[in-house]
Amino acid sequence: MPNKKIILSGMRPTGKLHLGHWAGALENWVALQNGGGYSNYHLIADYHALTTNIDTSDIHAFSLEMVLDWLSAGIDPEVSPVFRQSQIKEHTELHLVFSMLITTARLERNPTLKEQVRDLELGPMSYGYLGYPVLQAADILLYKGEVVPVGEDQLSHVEITREIARDFNRQYGQVFPEPAAKLTKFARLPGLDGKKMSKSLNNAILLSDPPDEVNKKMKKAVTDPQKIRKGDPGRPDICLVFTYHKKFNPSEEDEIRKGCESGSLGCVDCKMRAAEKINIFLEPFRERRKKYESEPEKLDKILRDGEERARAVASQTMSDVHKAMKLG
Ligand code: SF4
Repeated sequence: MPNKKIILSGMRPTGKLHLGHWAGALENWVALQNGGGYSNYHLIADYHALTTNIDTSDIHAFSLEMVLDWLSAGIDPEVSPVFRQSQIKEHTELHLVFSMLITTARLERNPTLKEQVRDLELGPMSYGYLGYPVLQAADILLYKGEVVPVGEDQLSHVEITREIARDFNRQYGQVFPEPAAKLTKFARLPGLDGKKMSKSLNNAILLSDPPDEVNKKMKKAVTDPQKIRKGDPGRPDICLVFTYHKKFNPSEEDEIRKGCESGSLGCVDCKMRAAEKINIFLEPFRERRKKYESEPEKLDKILRDGEERARAVASQTMSDVHKAMKLG
């Protein structure tokens, strides 16, 4: 598409998505798609999922669930192709070429890697795990991505991608752009316990949760521990329910703040008001989901179409790469 900047963004298929995924990535994806200035590709990073879990028994089901969440959030597959990394062999081919252009010492310095090894309590690191930013560089550059929408924790990976693109171009001639990171506006939404929102921590509101489930979950949300009952003054700035109001109920933010600080607003009411707004926000998601769920064969077709479109671009890039490297 002429004059449109190319964006490649993806997620690992780890099951149903939650509001944290919306705030940290999907919201931005949909805005970029609907803004019209970009050509977006959306990758189901199923090979990446293997870097932390080699059990593949759920990957297919998880991939379909994730695509359903993307579509329900407003990704239009006609405009933005969605596809599985494992179905486009050029990802692994370019990964191999790029892996010769970076040292293991550089990868070991990657701050995100150190954090993840600590947080996920991974055992000894696999060769594939150390190199996953290189696979990510291949994912982006295979489509000659110029912009990468990311959260702050992914900035170091975009830097590795830029370094690899520069090194390739210097060694073999100009093939790749140097993609720029595009930070999301509201990158983090905490879970109901105040920790990072995660399905495995059981603190997440899923994009597919029905209204009564959202209400039930919100009742359990932690609040300011100093505000025990209605009448006690609270501190909205340390309360995650207030964070949800800021995100999903901005027009009432000032009123909620005043009510909390004066004590006139009780936490139960405050939570239910947040739940109501989240339910209103999720309603269009539910409508779109219902439509896709009623035609399961359509999901397969969406993936097949997306993969065909992605393959055409990927194969052209590999042909450019081979030509530049004087291979074949
Ligand atoms: S009133 Fe609302 S913002 Fe204030 S502490 Fe309770 S839940 Fe949090």
